[in-house]
Amino acid sequence: MRQPMNIGRGDRPRNGSLDVDVRELERELKEKVRGEVRFDEGYRAAYSTDSSNYRQAPLGVVVPLDIEDVVAAMHACRRHGAPVSPAGCRTSLAGQMTNEVVIIDASRNLREIVEVDPEKEIARVQPGVIRDHLAKPLETEHGLSFPPDTSTHAFATFGGMIGNNACGAHSVMSGRTSDNIEEMEIVLYDGTRMHVGPTSEEEFERIVARGGRKGEIYAQLKELRDRYADLIRERYPAIPRRVSGYNLDELLSEKGFNVARALVGTEGTCAFVLEATVRLTPWPPARSLLVLGYPSIFEAADHVPEVMSHGPMACEAIDRELVDDMLRQGIHESEIPMLPDGDGWLMVEFGDDTRQQSDARAQEVVEALGSDETVPSMRLFDDVAEEQKLWNVRESGLGASAYPPGSADHYEGWEDTAVPPEKLGDYLRDFQALLDRYGYDTPKYGHFGQGLVHCRINFDLKTAEGLQHWHAFLSEAADLVVRYGGSFSGEHGDGQSKAEFLSRMYGEELVGAFREFKEIWDPDWKMNPRKVVDPYSHTDNLKLGAEYNPPHPKTHFAYPQDDGNFAHVTMRCVGAGLCRDTSSGTMCPSYMVTLDEKHTTRGRARILHEMLRGEIIKDGFKSKEVFDALDLCLSCKGCKGDCPVQVDMATYKAEFLKKYYKGKLRPRYAYTMGLIMLHARLAQYAPRLANFVTHAPVLKDVAKKLGGLTTEREMPPFAHQTFKAWFEERGERNRGGPPVVLFPDTFNNYLHPETAKATVEVLEAAGYRVIVPPEALCCGRPLFDYGMLDMAEAFFDRLVKGLAPYVREGIKVVGVEPSCIAAFRDELPNMMPHDEDARRLSKNTLTLAEFLVNEAEGYEPPKLERKALVHGHCHQKATVGLGAEQELYEKMGLGYEVLDSGCCGLAGSWGFEEDKHDLSMKIGERRLLPAARNAEVDTILLADGFSCKTQIDHGTDRRALHTAQVIKMALDHGTGAPPETSIPSRSTPTWCSTARVPTSRRQRLWPAW
Ligand SMILES: Cc1cc2nc3c(=O)[nH]c(=O)nc-3n(C[C@H](O)[C@H](O)[C@H](O)COP(=O)(O)OP(=O)(O)OC[C@H]3O[C@@H](n4cnc5c(N)ncnc54)[C@H](O)[C@@H]3O)c2cc1C
Ligand code: SF4
Ligand code: SF4
Repeated sequence: MRQPMNIGRGDRPRNGSLDVDVRELERELKEKVRGEVRFDEGYRAAYSTDSSNYRQAPLGVVVPLDIEDVVAAMHACRRHGAPVSPAGCRTSLAGQMTNEVVIIDASRNLREIVEVDPEKEIARVQPGVIRDHLAKPLETEHGLSFPPDTSTHAFATFGGMIGNNACGAHSVMSGRTSDNIEEMEIVLYDGTRMHVGPTSEEEFERIVARGGRKGEIYAQLKELRDRYADLIRERYPAIPRRVSGYNLDELLSEKGFNVARALVGTEGTCAFVLEATVRLTPWPPARSLLVLGYPSIFEAADHVPEVMSHGPMACEAIDRELVDDMLRQGIHESEIPMLPDGDGWLMVEFGDDTRQQSDARAQEVVEALGSDETVPSMRLFDDVAEEQKLWNVRESGLGASAYPPGSADHYEGWEDTAVPPEKLGDYLRDFQALLDRYGYDTPKYGHFGQGLVHCRINFDLKTAEGLQHWHAFLSEAADLVVRYGGSFSGEHGDGQSKAEFLSRMYGEELVGAFREFKEIWDPDWKMNPRKVVDPYSHTDNLKLGAEYNPPHPKTHFAYPQDDGNFAHVTMRCVGAGLCRDTSSGTMCPSYMVTLDEKHTTRGRARILHEMLRGEIIKDGFKSKEVFDALDLCLSCKGCKGDCPVQVDMATYKAEFLKKYYKGKLRPRYAYTMGLIMLHARLAQYAPRLANFVTHAPVLKDVAKKLGGLTTEREMPPFAHQTFKAWFEERGERNRGGPPVVLFPDTFNNYLHPETAKATVEVLEAAGYRVIVPPEALCCGRPLFDYGMLDMAEAFFDRLVKGLAPYVREGIKVVGVEPSCIAAFRDELPNMMPHDEDARRLSKNTLTLAEFLVNEAEGYEPPKLERKALVHGHCHQKATVGLGAEQELYEKMGLGYEVLDSGCCGLAGSWGFEEDKHDLSMKIGERRLLPAARNAEVDTILLADGFSCKTQIDHGTDRRALHTAQVIKMALDHGTGAPPETSIPSRSTPTWCSTARVPTSRRQRLWPAW
């Protein structure tokens, strides 16, 4: 298959289209490259965009195994004339990471930190090394760091930082990435491999004398430098954050003819960086955060030079509009009140050897500013955890400003201009006037200490007039920046968002020098063509654009945040990349163990978006590519909780599966596990038989295979007496007490009744009259995982009808199983948005801890002075949080630690599916299972989720307890409950047990749906 491509403008290949035999190219790459070669629609869709306004499907993706693989891939591409782009985490914001090229993705395997030399204060890294993976251990072990720390520091790569000349809050300490690069090894499109760095006269002579391609390049670079030296000195703005354009200034003699630094910021358009030697900077062990509140962001900007004169290690800003955007979206609600009074804030960090010293430095500023007549409100923080929370507020700026509720969407496009810090206040006022004139709005925040302003603007990118308006604005904004002696980009790079305007900043002649520079390295114009030099226009290849008109499929969920528009749902991901953070949080477990872009939340969102566009993926909701990408999604809701724009992949997956399976059978496991509530209702009449079939040697494996389940796991046995049977037999207590409804979910009614029983006893001990509804109610949680949404709706309908009489009377419903409570709180209003009873039920269903802490007036839990390790259910963390649980444990006197363990890996029934066991265990082994195994024997393991407990049971010799069981332990045994009471013996199959079903056989086995 021959695919014509437009690459470049001007002469030679820049001007024309080029034929690449894509199938042949793919074949040869597969033959020559040991890593992965992916040319299928799914991968092309997943890699079709970055964090910008642009999209272009790549020809294909190569994930090299090592450096030699990169060289082999480049060689194959060269043989076929195919253009290439090096790639890291692909968080670029200016469109430099979308192109019709072969993407060579270094982020997965090229992660070796080759050398760290603390004496010389240097490190050698491969391009896929993540900034924090080098910097964080160095900070604690050697008191050194790599200060340019982008907000994406936990997942952005050195290759990408070098490509974009990235910076961050701590660039105040040591400059841009380019200022911290000592040497690099690179490979060119033509296969030339070389080391580059600063070059003395003698070395230059030696290189040129040695000849070859390197000698030729060096000679050409010197000639170029000499021709343009005066102009470079004249036109390059002398500001801390000049990132736009190529770093031709690094070739000047006064800068030591630094070829490595000249290549930094070339955005993959010149060479592939194979390895870099980076300079490390002493990192103060103690840091103090001072926050200054001003009447507006303009006044905050005015005071930057004064604040900077005190030598902080960071000086960041946020404004009222950003904070309000966050509050309207319920983001950082507990952190924002920590800010001092004001509408514009500077966050100023001081470092030193001890906390007293760093505090003293901050105090100096407090005193100095105190004598100022425009004294700001000030707050000096003394708690490291609180400081980190405020840094998180600052770093989440982009996500928080993308979709402000009640306002149009906001986009990148003029997101990181930089001016001299001393002119920042005036610049911002003029910029605001320009925004006002164009009717745009945006929050303003950023790295003010170095004169950099971030904003995300409500451009209209969907109509011809909107695009014209945008263009006119950008032209004026560019002129404004030039007037202030600034740079269009102060850290994100030019890509195609800003590249078109470079001649306004540098003049045509220097832009011509950029063109020559690129041509020296890449005479065939095959490296990331039409970015930075001779670029696409900022209106080309837009994700939106005047022709954007996606289909609007009818959906089961209401998606209120997206006005019910599924196309908007699939655009929600802004590419921030947090779902590629493998160090903390719940999102995204499948990426954490596969390191495969297709299995990130972001990859899935992009594939869904392309499915609706229908250009790369053409078979819509029947697409196997989309199915494959979603199949490893655990529906853990980690993204719903952790993603800065609340991408909710579990819901999108349910929506997709519903349509994907329309008219065809689902896999067997969907019926076995998705309908578990129905099987359980049957099994209650013959638990002995059910447990025999699922636990007897040989038979159990046959049964599991027939059910499409893994044979590696034991099925949880059905209880010989259901919770409801026990409750009915025992009868209601506390007749005169205030009522509370206990929701007897499938798992805790039929499989783990002891947790529900403990919940009843705890509530009764608190004086409540517990009501257990007689109907067979279930929230249908497992149905969502398999897209059985008609049935799920029917279950919800029955649930709402069954519980409405109680909630209408103001009686609270307490749930035992966190995933069921999450279904009440999240799926229910999303599926039945206009049903008032559903709304009431959603608001009034609580976890036991929420009820005891927030509703049970005067409740004092029993004391239990024991250590506990807490694993929160992923659905609970995403929708409800663990705040009430933590408050309760504190009141009990438990010495607890909440594990940052993410999803347990079992994720309801996902880990039971026949092909998921290994991955499921791998996810569990990341944190939860080793932590459970290593916990001291008398430490209580606390996990409220049924599947979390099951995963711990399957993967360790420990058993976890529900919060209710721990309270009951304290009630039964007092504060010093002996260790053995917390570690009940492992569950034994109960297939010999006697069936005991509720005496009230009137209850219906099947709900009416
Ligand atoms: C929410 C958000 C916040 C951000 N905050 C900041 C910030 O504070 N500061 C900042 O500077 N940026 C920021 N960025 C932009 C971006 O994260 C950084 O520039 C980051 O360094 C890019 O790294 P990456 O691994 O994602 O690179 P990619 O996006 O994958 O690549 C970036 C460029 O480098 C090139 N490249 C990649 N690898 C190589 C290689 N091996 N050889 C040659 N070229 C290569 C690519 O071709 C591309 O042109 C932010 C982005 C987002 C989405
Ligand atoms: S899914 Fe969320 S976290 Fe992941 S890239 Fe998109 S916006 Fe960022
Ligand atoms: S639901 Fe969980 S597994 Fe699925 S995309 Fe979100 S974080 Fe990843």
